[in-house]
This record gives sequence, structure tokens and C-alpha cells, in this order.
Amino acid sequence: MPVSAWDVTVIFLWKISAFCANVRHSPKADSPMNIPHEKLDILIAGGTLLTMSPPGEIIENPCIGIRNGKIEFISKESIPADPRSDAREIIDASGCIVMPGLINVHTHLAMTCFRGLADDIPLMSWLNDHIFPAEAKFINRRTVHAGAMLGIAEMLLSGTTTFCDGYFFEGEVGRAAITAGMRGVIAQGFIDIGTPDQTKDSEKSIIAERFVERWRDRSSLITPALVCHSPYTCSPDTLRTVKAIAQRHGVSFQIHVSETREEVRLIRSRYGKNPLQHLHDLGILDQDTIAAHCIWLDSVEIDLLAEGRVKVAHDPESNMKLGAGVAPVSEMLRRGIDVGLGTDGSASNNNLDLFGEMSMTARIHKLFTGDPTVIKVEKAVEMATIGGARVLGMADRIGSIVPGKVADIILVDTRKPHLTPLYHPFSHLVYAARGADVVTSIIGGKIVMKDRRLLTIDTGSVMAEVRRIASRISGK
Ligand SMILES: [Zn+2]
Repeated sequence: MPVSAWDVTVIFLWKISAFCANVRHSPKADSPMNIPHEKLDILIAGGTLLTMSPPGEIIENPCIGIRNGKIEFISKESIPADPRSDAREIIDASGCIVMPGLINVHTHLAMTCFRGLADDIPLMSWLNDHIFPAEAKFINRRTVHAGAMLGIAEMLLSGTTTFCDGYFFEGEVGRAAITAGMRGVIAQGFIDIGTPDQTKDSEKSIIAERFVERWRDRSSLITPALVCHSPYTCSPDTLRTVKAIAQRHGVSFQIHVSETREEVRLIRSRYGKNPLQHLHDLGILDQDTIAAHCIWLDSVEIDLLAEGRVKVAHDPESNMKLGAGVAPVSEMLRRGIDVGLGTDGSASNNNLDLFGEMSMTARIHKLFTGDPTVIKVEKAVEMATIGGARVLGMADRIGSIVPGKVADIILVDTRKPHLTPLYHPFSHLVYAARGADVVTSIIGGKIVMKDRRLLTIDTGSVMAEVRRIASRISGK
């Protein structure tokens, strides 16, 4: 007779209560004197746990207790095995990989409104002939909020629990993230061509100051930051001004840099030096700067990144689609530079699924270097989790599953044909799984996606709103 879901649930709960009864008499158990009596918020039991601390660690059939938004304990026992395992919600992780939520270190969520608008053209034409004109005409608070909600929905459904975004009207991205229960670094954007939220140069410093002050202590989910688009769209004065404000407030500064050969030619003709040397000479490069792309670097520029402890956002799918090039990531990692993974905006990718970025990162650098041993699967997962946390300066809070950190956790269901058999969980995550295999997402101890259903977002109405915006953009 087949075993029903109800039978499985009954057996599972019986095992927990039976074990808890045993453990009360076990001399190995923690002393009850040290055990808080209040219930856990969530207990995750079973499955294969990748703690990412250390990065390759695998624990089979663990128990993870979550209380007040944080990971309280990890039990390595073979069945639900902690006297504190009385929980309001018990998640049976049998057949699942349990791991830290993924961290997308570079994206522009509002650009979901432009997904598929212009493909198969070079970056400069894509920007100047399509994206910048569309942004000038259609970007406003409403479109940014709608695009951010859609992007967050897509990320939650594909295992991302922290994103780092840079755009205009960035406060709308923060509001969307709070509504969705999503963790985000939100960077207000600056560019010299004029934007819908800034019409005068003199407004830049006021907007930057106000943005950081407004968002600094607004929510535990949100970290404010500032972003300048690039060295070729921002003057030295703009770059220095925005970086100085970021430094004064102790927030991160982000920038696209050395994304194409054309950019390098442009900066060399304008300033007589390579882009990273130019930024270095302006005092931009330090441990709180996140440089996205970093494709066309010479050895001196790699030295500048390493010596400045600059963080790098690697966006392989966007780089491939725009024909931008391949960043020297294996060399950067060899030099000890922190590199995280980003999707970039979904107009140049065209999705926000970090599983794709892990896969591409592991594959393209083998092709690029001719060495199949570079960027092994454990390293690719590290770059999407604790490595991303280091890039964002948040490694003390997120990126790994250890007691005391916030509970940002995902479950990947491996009971699928394309994930069978399972010899090595890291291999499956990088080479076989996709975002749609994530079944549960927890952020700050709150379940935001369960059994592939979003609990904080009305996906239908979010998609309908973006379709309305897209019909205006396309004129249909
Ligand atoms: Zn970007």
C-alpha cells in the first residue's frame, strides 16, 4: 500500500516526540538548566545541510533550531535530536539540500520591466539606443516599485535571500523589499546624463546624504549604499563626491568598471590611463567599494584590487550575453580578492536565477583558462553564499548556517529526475539544479516561500502591473 503524505507526517512527528522523550534522559543532552523553555519558531529537521562554515562542510540529517529570527542551534544527531525541538513550525527537510540563502551581489531589479526589450546587441548600443531612452521615458516611482516587486518574487522563488541593487528612485526598491520580507542592500544611483530622479548636478550630494540617512536604521532587512554608474558616465567630480559621502556614512560604494574593451579605450583616451587606475587615482578604491564586471584588467589593475581589498561582483551571464568578455576571476581568487556572483539586471541576463550564475561561473572559467580544475563546485557555491556576504561586508550576519547568524535558509528538493542519483550535493547545485528546485525560502527566521508558493507577495497582481507597464513601453 502506498504511504500517504499524512502517514509520513505522522511518522515524522512521532519520531520527534519519541526522540525528545529519550533525550530528556540522555546524559549526553544539554542540561535542561541551560535550555530556554519558550518554543522555537521553526525547527528544520533532516536533509543534507551545507553550512558553508567551513565552505565544504556537509552534515546529514541535522536539526536546525530558529528563534527570534536567528539560528539558535544545529544538532548533528541523525534524527530530530534536541530537547529544545518543540517548535511552532516543523519543516521536514527529507530529500532536500538545506543551505544558506543565495546572495546576489549585483542587480538592477527595476529592469525586470525591460526584460527581453533589446537583445543580441553590444553593451554601448544596448545602453545608448535602448535602455537609457526607455529609462528616461518610463522610469518613475511606480515602475521601479513594480519592477522591484517582480524581481524580488523571481529571486525568492529561485533561492536568493539577499540582493544588492543599484538604480534610481531606489527607495522604492527598499519599500518593495520590506513588503516582501526580503533582505537587500539598496544603492541610490548616480549618473551624469540626467535621470528621472535627479535633474541638476547640485542635487546629487543632497540626494545621496538624504538617502543614506533615511534608510540607515529603517529596517533590519535593509542596508543603504550608493552607486555611480561607471567611470565613462560619471565625471571625476561626481565619483569623488558620491564616494566621499559613502565613506562619511560608512556605507558601500558601487560602480560598473572595465566591462568592455570600448570602455577601456574611452577612459584611456579621456584620462590617459586604464579605468581602475583612474578610479584608484581618484581615491575610489577601498574595501567598501564593490566593482562590478572587472573584465578588461591588466596585471597592475589586479594588483590595485588586491591591495585596496576592493570587492568584485562577477556577472557571467550578462557578460556573455553582451559579448563583453570573461573576467579573470580565477586569477582574482588566487590573489585573495573577494568575488561574489551577480545576475546584473534582467534586461541583460535575462533572469535573476543565481543557480545559472553558479553554473556559468564554474563552466566558463574552465573554458577560458583551458583548465577543468579552476573554480570547483564548492568554490562556486561559496561565491554565491558566504563569498557574497564578504563582498557586501555582511559576513558576520549572513552567508552561512551557524548559531547566532540570521536565519536566511533555503531548501532545495533533490527528489527530481534531473537530480538523481545524488553523490555530491555541491555538484548538483552547480551543474544540475536550477532555481525552480528551491522549495522553501526563509529570511530572518520568517518563511517567505513554502512549497514554491510565495507567502508575502501577490504574484498575479505584481505580474499584471508589470505587463501594464510593458504595454506602455512597447506602445501596444
Ligand atoms: Zn549592472
